[in-house]
Amino acid sequence: MTPVVNTVEKLLLAAPRGYCAGVDRAVQTVERALQIHGAPVYVRKEIVHNKHVVEELTTRGAIFVEEHTEVPEGAVCVFSAHGIAPSVREGAAQRRLETIDATCPLVTKVHREAVRFAQDGYTIVLVGHAGHEEVEGTMGEAPEQIVLVQDEQDVETLEIDNPERVAYITQTTLAVDETTAILKRLRERFPKIVGPRTDDICYATTNRQAAVKQMASRCDLMLVIGSSNSSNSKRLVEVARDCGTDAHLIDNAREVQEEWLDGRRVVGISSGASAPENLVAELIEFFKARGVEDISEFDVVKEDVRFMLPKQIRLATAAAAPATGAAL
Ligand code: SF4
Repeated sequence: MTPVVNTVEKLLLAAPRGYCAGVDRAVQTVERALQIHGAPVYVRKEIVHNKHVVEELTTRGAIFVEEHTEVPEGAVCVFSAHGIAPSVREGAAQRRLETIDATCPLVTKVHREAVRFAQDGYTIVLVGHAGHEEVEGTMGEAPEQIVLVQDEQDVETLEIDNPERVAYITQTTLAVDETTAILKRLRERFPKIVGPRTDDICYATTNRQAAVKQMASRCDLMLVIGSSNSSNSKRLVEVARDCGTDAHLIDNAREVQEEWLDGRRVVGISSGASAPENLVAELIEFFKARGVEDISEFDVVKEDVRFMLPKQIRLATAAAAPATGAAL
């Protein structure tokens, strides 16, 4: 067997990377629910799109199900960060589930926009990926009035009864540049189209893509830690490749393939918004074990966004420690 010759000399770590405020809140919600209610706590869909997070919470007593109908009547059920259609909420109420909604507040914002535009009689163009849980949840707010477009080609063939009354909204985890092009084409086809007051692509998606975009040209290879069903992680790989840099999505360090590293000197590392930092630390250790010592952060944006935990969790926490205010 040919011995491995390490050519990697330098690691650049994208900043920001990894957990966003919505993922942090969702994961904490399940952890707190387990503390408050004890196992099992049911979670509809993967709480966030990361298999390590799901495995870790499973070992602590979370049970992940695809639909609320799989949850025993009256049990505790957490809704994932990606949001749910109103029909799911209604179905859960009929089963008397004790629900805790971990939908990211930035996804809830998109739902509210959908409801507002629908009430005002608009046809709503949702830019997003078919089959993604966030898209399914958002479309469920006004299924008769929302049409999905995934790319510029879809815009070309879009037929809308009243082009005078069209609105757009977007999934939160899209590629920024691609979405800009789609929205430009939408405005050309429907000059009266209206949109939300502020962008729907969330700060975390935008910042992680900006960091990868700025550092990609300095790297011979980009490794993005994230699961294959994580939309924002996949977009990071695409952004790096669009910059001409070879890039791969990996769940963890064990998935790095030797041939990717052959002849590469600078390796950039980023991680999707649902990927825990310990997976990045393991990847760094992988390279340290190969003798890489030059490791630095590539700082692009500082983030300080935090979201409050869901109301049910806050109330239960306060009730458990009324005198001291101590956290559970
Ligand atoms: S990626 Fe954005 S929208 Fe999704 S959970 Fe994180 S902050 Fe919320």
